[in-house]
Amino acid sequence: MNWKNKIKKVRSLLNMWLQRQLTLQGRVTVVNTLMLSRFWYTLFVTSMPEWAYLEIKRLCVNFIWDNRSHLVKCSSIADEKCKGGLQLSDIKCKMYAFRLKYIGRLIDDQYHVLWKDIFKYFASKIYGMQLGLEILYHCLLSIIPDEWKNTIDNNVHHRNIDRTIDISVLIKNVPCDLKSCNVKKLYQCVLEDITEEPIGPIIWKKLYALDEAELCKIWKYVYEFWKPSKMIELDYKIMHNCVFTNVKLKKIGLSDSELCDVCHKENEDIMHVFINCDELEDFHDYLSALLCKIFENCDSDKISLVQSEMLLLNGLRWKMKGVNDLFLNFVLSVARFCIFRRRNLLKNGHKMYI
Ligand SMILES: [Zn+2]
Repeated sequence: MNWKNKIKKVRSLLNMWLQRQLTLQGRVTVVNTLMLSRFWYTLFVTSMPEWAYLEIKRLCVNFIWDNRSHLVKCSSIADEKCKGGLQLSDIKCKMYAFRLKYIGRLIDDQYHVLWKDIFKYFASKIYGMQLGLEILYHCLLSIIPDEWKNTIDNNVHHRNIDRTIDISVLIKNVPCDLKSCNVKKLYQCVLEDITEEPIGPIIWKKLYALDEAELCKIWKYVYEFWKPSKMIELDYKIMHNCVFTNVKLKKIGLSDSELCDVCHKENEDIMHVFINCDELEDFHDYLSALLCKIFENCDSDKISLVQSEMLLLNGLRWKMKGVNDLFLNFVLSVARFCIFRRRNLLKNGHKMYI
């Protein structure tokens, strides 16, 4: 297998896509559908050397971040969207999922295909030992705890009786039969071991006492499919607390001052950009009036939240009777986008930049 050529091709294709100025979401789609999908068939039947895996991963992750600094950890962007990830496919996990599926089919007595007989034939030829599937059982035995091996040797293992193997895999803490799992489920199962919780959203969890379920709902609104992708990208960055405010830019030496470019009064952190800036007073009043109209038919006591900063920053995270939550979150998303766009226009002259 000529991995160097394959990687060279991926590199040139990614460079071509880089010139199209896609959004974060768009770049993830390019990697998942156009780049990594080239490897799936190969990985179904063969392995990949570690250096090739690392190189492809490096190329793809750099592409996702537009060859600039990585804003969110690689182990977090591979995760599901409801956990703050971008669902960037991980090649190794995909390869393991394909193999687990292969084993699942091999041990499934109801699944009749020609390749199983061919596999058993060649397996039986290894070392001329006529072992057949014993080799597979041997491999499985080598990875299970010792006490289980004793149980199998003493109580279960009878060579003269045909055995069917039942293997359960834990997917989100629910045991599932390996034979009935599809590749997607197995991929999720393998992925759980390498993903990590992102650090950015911890600030919101602490500030507004959010639990995991609430955070998950907020993430769903972030990726609302009919939102323009630029708004999704901004909401994603706000939730991960990785918007480059002047406080952050000063820290990495890209700005001389931490002061807000709009009001020139306070240091510009994320709360200042969207909530505390004096120059936003009129806009906040306008937004409050608009939200009051949206909440007009709502008889809930949660109406007081209309004014709250949390609503503006993270959106509405529960369903309320009489309120179209999708529309409300869309309005809030547009509001965030406008605030940030104005700030960028003032900061960078009149260059179109976000
Ligand atoms: Zn300000």
